Amino acid sequence: MTHHNTDQMKAPHASQQGQAPRWEIESIFPGGSKSPQYAAFRQEMVKEIDKLEKALAKLPKKLDETSRPKWTKWILDLQAAYEKLHLASSFAGCLTSQDVNDEEAMRIDAEIDDQASRWGMMKATLESFSVKASNREWQKLLQKKGIREISFHLDEMRDRAKMKMPEELEKLAIELGVNGYHSWNRLYDKMAGDLRVTLDDVGQKKEISLGQNAPRMSDRDREVRRDAFEKMVGAWKMRENLAAIALNSQGGFRLSIYKRRGWEDPLFEPLLNARMKRATIEAMWSAVVKGRPQLKPYVDAKMKYLGIDKFRWYDQEAPLGKSDRKISFDEAGRFIVEHLKSFSDEMGDFTSMALDKRWIEAEDRTGKAGGGWCSRIAIRKESRIFMTYTGTFSGLSTLAHELGHAYHGWVLKDNPPFAAMYPMNLAETASIFNELRVTDAALAASSNFDEKLMLTDQKLANGLTFMSNIHARFIFDSRFYEERKKGTVARERLNEIMKEAQKEAFFGILDEHDGYHPLFWASKLHFFITGAPFYNFPYTFGYLFANGVYDRAIKEGKTFATNYRDLLADTGRLTTEEVAKKHLGVDLTKEDFWRDAVDRVCADVAPFVKLVNQAD
Ligand SMILES: [Zn+2]
Repeated sequence: MTHHNTDQMKAPHASQQGQAPRWEIESIFPGGSKSPQYAAFRQEMVKEIDKLEKALAKLPKKLDETSRPKWTKWILDLQAAYEKLHLASSFAGCLTSQDVNDEEAMRIDAEIDDQASRWGMMKATLESFSVKASNREWQKLLQKKGIREISFHLDEMRDRAKMKMPEELEKLAIELGVNGYHSWNRLYDKMAGDLRVTLDDVGQKKEISLGQNAPRMSDRDREVRRDAFEKMVGAWKMRENLAAIALNSQGGFRLSIYKRRGWEDPLFEPLLNARMKRATIEAMWSAVVKGRPQLKPYVDAKMKYLGIDKFRWYDQEAPLGKSDRKISFDEAGRFIVEHLKSFSDEMGDFTSMALDKRWIEAEDRTGKAGGGWCSRIAIRKESRIFMTYTGTFSGLSTLAHELGHAYHGWVLKDNPPFAAMYPMNLAETASIFNELRVTDAALAASSNFDEKLMLTDQKLANGLTFMSNIHARFIFDSRFYEERKKGTVARERLNEIMKEAQKEAFFGILDEHDGYHPLFWASKLHFFITGAPFYNFPYTFGYLFANGVYDRAIKEGKTFATNYRDLLADTGRLTTEEVAKKHLGVDLTKEDFWRDAVDRVCADVAPFVKLVNQAD
């Protein structure tokens, strides 16, 4: 431990002087990236992976009476190694985030990646072994103690493998994907990173990246927003043809693989990843399409307040109202605990404990990474939260959000690692739930006009993002894949598809003449993420699912707290529909649940309109 030694000594007292606290990670491994205990732990972990590889080579290739106990032990050891890898990697993540210049931590992180890929190779071998095993033998294996508890995960792995191409072809596809498929993504990222726009800074020309330009899209001044938008579009016009090649190429690659696997629907894989049925996503979008016109009066009132007569793409993030109140970290913590406890004592107590034990890195200082996240330290049944707290309401909301993730981790603490892995669409349930809870509590407690306007607008702006903006991306992806099946889709056509998608998803609120963003398919990096196709609907799903759960919490009160807890605990071992059926008693393939969720989102429209009318 060298350069951040002195800072850490001050940390325990920092919060008493009003400064947001640093976290406590010394109890995990003392001494940061130079920790001898951390080094010893990693060494031990490598030895275990060595042992696992050797054991795998000797394991009988056939699953039967005699090999069953051997495979059982090996699978459980593989799972245990995963938990250690996860701890090693989480800790490295803590170190690289708290100090972006910690080079030793970065080196360790890369070293762990190598071990993780060795682990991944063994998991792939288990996958192909599972396909070769007879159903009868496989079922017998799943009955074994320790394996039974993770049978959902193992069955899912086997079912997926069965739907793929023969092992050799899958291996070839993965190998070709590194320099083919995924290269398009890397090329796109490089291209986006290199793009610059020129600003006029008091007569001085200044070049900034698109990342630096992005916050200008939510400026209070409409001229700044418009300028940011137009310059961004201008920059992408220069690369439109290249972005079209990248999108067509990666889309084509994916479709070729799907064809070989016999997967006709481009949504097949994304739905598999989300552990959900097509009927569910259809019911969700259908309820969204029917319910979102309720947002129209919100947009009208917002335009009235902003004094504009046309709603354009760059008005989506226009901020309204404000809050000058400074909230200390301790005050934020107390507020969150109070309003979680009023729903569930357990949630309140857990949150108190996380704050008391200093699981949160919140100090506002230079040299730390941006963003916010929560990482489980599963072996220790703990979590750590990383963020920068600056005393605003948005900081309080982020803190509540991340504490929701930590609570989700807490209820999963007794699940074996393979029964604690949840899909992206269920990952945000607890975090958004917490956000909604504290935002509504803040709204109820506030008598300040600007503050109420700000909070209500932010809630509804989210609603518009998830129900319209994200839906437009989903429509675009769906149509793009349909047309891509027949051949390359020209860039003019991509623009057309995007415009049509926006027209539909924004139900006529964007200005017909120049309110759209046809180049959105090029400017949004989500369309180019090869690791996760259709990187859109899980967002809307997660948001509406959390709103639906929140709706139930409001209607049923404290009696719902246990159901909520059990729901979270099952996110790693049931399909999405099963989670909802078992703990909410609802059928996600039907619209009812989704309608309630959409109505919950739109419940803020009337109060918002009333607020705006008060202003004049
Ligand atoms: Zn989150």
